[in-house]
Amino acid sequence: MEPENVDVVVVGLGVGGEEVAGRLAEAGLSVVGIERDLVGGECPYWGCVPSKMMIRAANTLAEARRVDEFAGSAQVQPDWAPVAKRIRAEATDTWDDRVAVERFVNQGGRFIRGSGRLGGPGRVRVGDQVFQARHGIVLSTGTRPSAPPIDGLADTPYWTNHQAIEVDKLPGSLLVLGGGAIGLELTQVFARFGVRVTVVEALDRVLAMEEPEASEVVASALRADGVDIHTGVMADRVDHDGREFTLHADDVRYTAERLLVVTGRRAYLDELGLDTVGIRADQRFLPVDDRLRVADRLRVAEGIWAVGDVTGQGAFTHVATYQAGIVVADILDRVRRSGAAADPGGTVPRADYQALPRVTFTDPEVGAVGLTESQARQRGINVQVGHVPLGSSARGWIHRADGLIKLVADADRGVLVGGTSVGPAGGEVLSGLAVAVHAAVPLTQLRDMIYAYPTFYRAISDALRNMG
Ligand SMILES: Cc1cc2nc3c(=O)[nH]c(=O)nc-3n(C[C@H](O)[C@H](O)[C@H](O)COP(=O)(O)OP(=O)(O)OC[C@H]3O[C@@H](n4cnc5c(N)ncnc54)[C@H](O)[C@@H]3O)c2cc1C
Repeated sequence: MEPENVDVVVVGLGVGGEEVAGRLAEAGLSVVGIERDLVGGECPYWGCVPSKMMIRAANTLAEARRVDEFAGSAQVQPDWAPVAKRIRAEATDTWDDRVAVERFVNQGGRFIRGSGRLGGPGRVRVGDQVFQARHGIVLSTGTRPSAPPIDGLADTPYWTNHQAIEVDKLPGSLLVLGGGAIGLELTQVFARFGVRVTVVEALDRVLAMEEPEASEVVASALRADGVDIHTGVMADRVDHDGREFTLHADDVRYTAERLLVVTGRRAYLDELGLDTVGIRADQRFLPVDDRLRVADRLRVAEGIWAVGDVTGQGAFTHVATYQAGIVVADILDRVRRSGAAADPGGTVPRADYQALPRVTFTDPEVGAVGLTESQARQRGINVQVGHVPLGSSARGWIHRADGLIKLVADADRGVLVGGTSVGPAGGEVLSGLAVAVHAAVPLTQLRDMIYAYPTFYRAISDALRNMG
């Protein structure tokens, strides 16, 4: 079939692709956006938004349960029905993307439902249609849950984040395989609604990508919610007898009505026709340069960009939208130059992840930016660490809040290279640390600043003082 000429083709309209496609269409380019499932992707339908609605609901229960400690007595009767209803009515339109499709079409884009794959240089196939992209192709196909190769697991009706978010009637008990951010957020929600939750993690601590002190605070908060946590456990078999799951690890068995597997996510590159443009599909993620141009073994694939989780630069919505801004600027710059060689003046911003912020929305929240202490040491940085419990701030003490501030500095440069804030508003307190790491604010200036009393973030000034 004769290919149809367009300016840009975007394959995958999750948060990353949707942003690129919409903004380029608004800029007047002819843009084809291809999505095989729901426009918006994981974040609004099975990720950030509904999970944070669940967390908001669970935290109101936990706060009400604190009345006994601070203000008298309260009886709390958890009910999942309003949560399930809100997810359907407000977050996902019962998993219907009509509004998102209309928004894209109103921006001037052309929407096609289907699976796109490359079909040679500049070319994308979807169903029996073929498009030839004048200015570029953007691959924003995200990731999907990946389950570990545990004997028997694949034959069981285990849950991924999709079933956990879509649930309208809670099980009595739940096994959570994987103690990372997503697993722990969902664990706490279900535990606070009365589900008996057991977490099984292969590594020696939960939330292993963050500071060990943060892992400890979160693990003890989850235990206080009644969660059973087992770390350093390698599951070797899973059975399901029609009623119950059994997870075997050496001689130990863990059983529950449901099993949620949240052990990681994978980009399915083999579905994208990468071989037709000379890019290897047997990689974990699509390799990109600092303008998000797909660059395999330092060879830039002409006219192909990648955005979001598929790049492996941080599986966060804010990474996808940050990268989308760079791709939009790069493609528009290229259009202005009418396809002439790249950006000699360096006007297009370059991706820089040194101040990448991330938040685990457990209660207490874990906000973190930049490097952890061990990452900084591995890089040979002359590390200085400042560390205080949140109770060192008046507000932390007043709230009887568990948490901490940990700062990681490069002593030679006199700047922060990382920071962690754990506490009731750990993700919000993080913003000051993110600015400090991003802008390399000198430690002397951070020490000279005035910190409002009595805020949680005032603990940062204590951590700066005890840095050694
Ligand atoms: C439970 C959970 C909670 C999360 N919470 C947060 C949070 O609080 N904060 C945060 O920043 N991030 C969070 N995330 C991560 C966030 O959802 C992702 O980082 C984000 O969705 C990535 O966007 P993306 O566009 O790269 O990919 P996706 O959202 O995965 O979108 C990719 C899209 O491409 C489509 N697609 C794939 N292949 C093709 C093809 N060949 N043709 C056509 N379409 C295709 C898919 O159907 C999908 O819609 C969470 C994730 C989960 C699972």
